[in-house]
Amino acid sequence: MIRNRIGMKLGLVIASVFLVVLLVLGVTMYQMFFNFYHTEMKTEVSEMTSHFITMAETTNASSEDMMLTFADFSNVSIFYINAQGKITLHSGEHNAADRSFIYEEDIKKIFSGESISIEHQDPSGSRYVVIGQPIYEGNTISSAIYVMASTANMDKSLTAVRNLLILAGIGAFLLAIGITWIMAQLLSRPLIQMQQATKRIAIGELETRLEIESKDEFGDLAAAINNLAADLQRYRDTRQEFFANISHELRTPITYLKGYAKVVKNRIYDTEEEKDRYLDIIYQEASRIEHLVSDLFELAKMEEGKISLSMEWVDMKDIVEQAVQKIELKAKEKEIYLKIQAPDSIPLIRGDGLRMEQIVLNLVENAVRYTDKGTVKVSVSSSTNRVTLLVEDTGIGIPTDELSFIFDRFYRVEKSRSRQYGGTGLGLSIVRNLVELQGGTIKVSSSVGKGTCFKIQFPSLTIEEELR
Ligand code: ADP
Repeated sequence: MIRNRIGMKLGLVIASVFLVVLLVLGVTMYQMFFNFYHTEMKTEVSEMTSHFITMAETTNASSEDMMLTFADFSNVSIFYINAQGKITLHSGEHNAADRSFIYEEDIKKIFSGESISIEHQDPSGSRYVVIGQPIYEGNTISSAIYVMASTANMDKSLTAVRNLLILAGIGAFLLAIGITWIMAQLLSRPLIQMQQATKRIAIGELETRLEIESKDEFGDLAAAINNLAADLQRYRDTRQEFFANISHELRTPITYLKGYAKVVKNRIYDTEEEKDRYLDIIYQEASRIEHLVSDLFELAKMEEGKISLSMEWVDMKDIVEQAVQKIELKAKEKEIYLKIQAPDSIPLIRGDGLRMEQIVLNLVENAVRYTDKGTVKVSVSSSTNRVTLLVEDTGIGIPTDELSFIFDRFYRVEKSRSRQYGGTGLGLSIVRNLVELQGGTIKVSSSVGKGTCFKIQFPSLTIEEELR
């Protein structure tokens, strides 16, 4: 029962509403029947009384006998009452000595020409409709006629109607309870399933999925829970992968550091030059760790949205020239021809100058790193509302099926590339974050053995805006 509390609550509310509605409906219907029967009966007795009066006012010797026979036949009692209130004629089953239904004010009313209509209950509990009307003799009222009809038959009919209504009400209520129970089960089942699923997700069973396909709010909620579980699962998997990557990335340089430090410490070298070479390796590996840690820190800040950008209007051409200048020496060492292509002026873009330079530096460094002899071309161009930066090289390229992964953290095309070329595997991840944080987009195209091209676009100032 506890498991089904929502269903219970829902069922109780609906059943209570139904009960109230049925009660109100039943009472109203019974009242309608009651009023209808009573009005009908009063009309009937009134009409009968008028007949009796017509007979009474006919000065025919047999009319009185006829009237009495008619009264017996019609199952009513009639009373003639004179102005003094005495009963002068009586017919019917009702006790002639009973005067409890005759009131002085009614007699007065009748003798002043009015009719009366009352409902009377005698001492034995029987109920009657009583109609009193005046009988005229010429222009004067000679006596009052009271016609008394028992309501027993009407009461019987009303009791039958009431029993029928109660029976129908109970039937409808039971039916409603049945339907409500089924509805409550149908409504609460998906809720209970979702509650159990979220409990399982909360204790780490992230493979849990709901199979609620309905196209309503329940379906939407179930889909949202499934998405949440999938996100959490992905997050957990990438987190595990991330930690595995970090420890792997750190382990390799640390092993080098330890090994070469031991060699130097135990003086296991022949010449001073050999010792310097080992110290060089120690220095390079320490730099690599430093690089890795600072990249990781940057990325963490970006992903948590904690990086602060000082946005200003910047000229992409200036930024490219500064960045290229810094890498020129390295390019020369590798006999790489570094070329800039840009029009005289380029619309300004909104961004953080230093971060923009970091983006260009990262891309051009990669281009130089993954190219052995050849050309690296950096071009800046503009179209309506857009500034485009292309970094193209003639290097080793990236296989097409790996292109979509190169922006992932620690992703390297070949795991051996990092040792050979240096780098942390975080560079492109940082670049994409920085580009997107500044409202830009980044795309890559490449062909193995021919070269790679990174395309970055930022929204720019329009000419009108620039002129304003
Ligand atoms: P890394 O620091 O290892 O260069 P990046 O995130 O910058 O890491 O790049 C990810 C991987 O993408 C690199 O390891 C390399 O395999 C590949 N890559 C990036 N730029 C180029 C390029 N211009 N040419 C060929 N391969 C590239």
